Amino acid sequence: MRNTLIRCLFCGFLIFGIWTPVLLIYFRHYHESYKQNNMKESESLLSLEKYVHQQILHNSARVTKQEGLPIYLDEEEPKPMFSKNFNFTDPEFYDGFLKYGLNSILSKKLGNQRVVPDSRNAICLKRFYPMRLPSASVIICFYNEEFYALIRTVTSVMYLTPSLFLEEIILVDDKSEYDDLKEKLEHHLDIFRGKIKLIRNKEREGLIRSRMIGAGHASGDVLVFLDSHCEVNRGWLKPLLQAISKDPKMVVCPLIDVIDEMTFEYKASPLVRGIFDWNLLFKWGKLFSYEMEGPEGPSKPIRSPAMAGGIFAINRHFFYEIGQYDKGMDFMGGENVEISLRIWMCGGQLYIIPCSRVGHVTRNHNVNRNLTVEAAMIRNSLRVVHVWLDEYKEQYFHRRPALKFRAYGNVSERVKLRKQLKCKSFQWYLDNIFPDLEVSVNFWR
Ligand code: UDP
Ligand code: MN
Repeated sequence: MRNTLIRCLFCGFLIFGIWTPVLLIYFRHYHESYKQNNMKESESLLSLEKYVHQQILHNSARVTKQEGLPIYLDEEEPKPMFSKNFNFTDPEFYDGFLKYGLNSILSKKLGNQRVVPDSRNAICLKRFYPMRLPSASVIICFYNEEFYALIRTVTSVMYLTPSLFLEEIILVDDKSEYDDLKEKLEHHLDIFRGKIKLIRNKEREGLIRSRMIGAGHASGDVLVFLDSHCEVNRGWLKPLLQAISKDPKMVVCPLIDVIDEMTFEYKASPLVRGIFDWNLLFKWGKLFSYEMEGPEGPSKPIRSPAMAGGIFAINRHFFYEIGQYDKGMDFMGGENVEISLRIWMCGGQLYIIPCSRVGHVTRNHNVNRNLTVEAAMIRNSLRVVHVWLDEYKEQYFHRRPALKFRAYGNVSERVKLRKQLKCKSFQWYLDNIFPDLEVSVNFWR
């Protein structure tokens, strides 16, 4: 019995005495290697993130340095998709068109970035620009914009602007309602962090006041305004900056190429200047033949009586000096003629620079223009008429007699500004800048 007890104790000792240290050693070793593996894994995650970030920086640096084209991961440019066979009965196509005024299925297919044809005249390619140029803040206001059209606007600016001259891109969300313009947008913009400021309006302000909000956040020497469905072309910014660096009171527009809202085909525009009619409606006008003369003809800046509105560059201080915009104007419309008259009549100049090209999606069905906006556009135009047209306001009312006694709010601040800036008369503007306006008008009809 005693012997059996001793044997059991001996066996127990053997089991615990040997196996316990063995198990302890095993668990300790397991714990250490688990810790190490975990560290290695998080290190590799970190370096992967670092690597991706470096690649993005490297790519954008490489692209912006050479003013080259966006890089496609498979090194293959996407094929153009200019098919005109739309399926109008496709509910997705139909909804997208009603929502955005463009072919949103195709826009989504084109994705974040694409290569557009270089639409500049060959003379422009031989131009050299100084290394020292002012910096630019690009301001893009958007309201319920189609997601990929907006993203392409941003990526085209990021990839085709030398980062040295790009102070920042300021996006002003004019209280959009669509979900994809919220967190998803911020997520997509994250790769450009450091260069992008996103401002969200608390209330819908309209395009005109949103631009002023954007300008208030800008710190670049030059403000460049773009619509939220643009694609800038190669070398677009330097010619604009150069013109402004020579004369800070020079306001410049790129030549606006057309992006078809259905096919997204990028079409080069002919040389044009901006004009308007006696309804103060903007249109494109032909150049005088002498403006095209000489070997430099197709690349020479074009003196323009008016700007289309959405896309232009202006020295930041000059923007404030001549009174930004009329903050009494709502939504959009009329501000382009107002700023054009103010520039010319109050000591500035307005030119289109054909060596700078920016594509813009022209929308026939403009989703932003409902009845409220249309009413605002008329009211805005009336403010222009009463502040800037002097005795020529009769030309406007002759065509629209019903508007003669329509309310347009208080314009005393703008009248005061005109006096303070010692602006010239509308007669001077007609005589010197837009002499052909008179010709197109039959006042006595
Ligand atoms: N926009 C805005 N708030 C508005 C109306 C328009 O921010 O109340 C933006 C719009 O998203 C676009 C720009 O202003 O980026 C110009 O509008 P739109 O393209 O409709 O004008 P168009 O090019 O037809 O003159
Ligand atoms: Mn537009």
